[in-house]
Amino acid sequence: IGVSPIDVIKTLMARGIMASINQQVDFETAASVAEEFGIEVEEHVPEVVQQADQDIETRRDEGDDPGAVPRPPVVTIMGHVDHGKTKLLDAIRQTNVAAGEAGGITQHIGAYQVEVQGRKITFLDTPGHEAFTAMRARGAQVTDIAVLVVAADDGVMPQTREAISHARAADVPLIVALNKIDLPAANPDRVKQQLAEVGVIPEEYGGDVPVVEISAKERLGIDDLLEMILLVADLQELKANPNKPAIGVIIEAKVDRGRGPVATALIQSGTLKVRDVVVVGATWGRVRAMVDDRGRRVRRAEPAMPVEILGLLDVPEAGDILQAVEDEKTARTLAEERARQRRAEAFTETRVVKLDDAFAQLEEGETRELRVVLKADVQGSLEAIQGTLAKLNEESESVGVSVVHAGTGAISESDVNLAVASNAIIVGFNVRPDAAAKRAADAAGVDIRFYDIIYQLVDDIKSAMSGLLSPEV
Ligand code: GDP
Repeated sequence: IGVSPIDVIKTLMARGIMASINQQVDFETAASVAEEFGIEVEEHVPEVVQQADQDIETRRDEGDDPGAVPRPPVVTIMGHVDHGKTKLLDAIRQTNVAAGEAGGITQHIGAYQVEVQGRKITFLDTPGHEAFTAMRARGAQVTDIAVLVVAADDGVMPQTREAISHARAADVPLIVALNKIDLPAANPDRVKQQLAEVGVIPEEYGGDVPVVEISAKERLGIDDLLEMILLVADLQELKANPNKPAIGVIIEAKVDRGRGPVATALIQSGTLKVRDVVVVGATWGRVRAMVDDRGRRVRRAEPAMPVEILGLLDVPEAGDILQAVEDEKTARTLAEERARQRRAEAFTETRVVKLDDAFAQLEEGETRELRVVLKADVQGSLEAIQGTLAKLNEESESVGVSVVHAGTGAISESDVNLAVASNAIIVGFNVRPDAAAKRAADAAGVDIRFYDIIYQLVDDIKSAMSGLLSPEV
């Protein structure tokens, strides 16, 4: 762009990015620096990468693909601790095994499939919304339907609400499994009332959320629940084309002594075959063998089928996209490009926030607002929290909450600096400050609050907002 490196570095520094002359930055940052010098830049993406990105983009939207055929739904079980998620996952799996398919000890690979009325349903085997959010954080939406387990003797609890927020943020339909109806203390009507109060309106109250009463322990209502899942799946018209190169998502990965990197992929589109060359996030490999949820060797994996794959060069991360490609050269190119992108993004995210920049934001308006620096462990939680805060803003005209900065990872010194500069409080969701941040916060008297339950966080912010309200005269 005909500008001296010194000027480029200065411009980066003004944005809080302490780059050396050899640093890679992401495209967005590069573009904004160039703009400073009156130059508009266009991103050049190699053609194989463009094509691969596009295939990934369209994988879940195969309505227009004439080769698309119905595929099984992928279900995640969520709910408050001890409400019976694990028990339900076991009950579903065992019902199916009892139904008789020969062979195989069930083994944990992160997901399993059952057959109901000749149709398959895939369950993610990690209960709770952590896995769900971690995957969404990487842009990988795998879940079609969320089953919300609510204990009939305990009702709607903090993590129940949280699961609801996550499902809503992801726009995934809910089915409520009202569990433990075998207990004398079970009170289904009260729980349905509570659900309605938090906006999950049961069908019998005129809403659109099916509620199925079950006992995971006594195996009651399990078939009804499975049938309901199929019914909800039918409404979604889930389809995928099995006759093309596979695209999937990694749901678990580890190094196995003897077998090397082992990853469980959930195929979303196409069919994965043994000997296919695949790119997985920033690594790649040739599929040496595949194992299904019964520990059986398989040669093919079709849409919605989870399989353990062997043959990757390195261990990918949960949420990484798997993509079968033409040859090893393409795989290597794509993997290198992804690794490069990740490095550049990681670097530009560690920016140091300059106080002057933050002060500039302060002068903008006169609205009374509570300023918040928001840090969370995963992107999914961030989104859910921001969504809820945005709703708070809609509800109140005179007071607003303004998220000065939102990011994932531990609370850092630069978060504290930003909070000081913008007169904000820091809110940590499932994250803590590092040592430097703690010192800085103590010295500056910055308020840091920690939460592990979204609704408590929101409640506190609400009260803080009402504290900001001018007294009525
Ligand atoms: P999770 O934390 O949601 O995975 O809950 P678990 O599946 O571990 O269940 C928590 C406790 O509730 C365990 O002691 C289960 O045996 C019990 N439990 C689960 N389902 C039922 C049920 O339908 N009826 C009764 N009475 N107990 C249940």
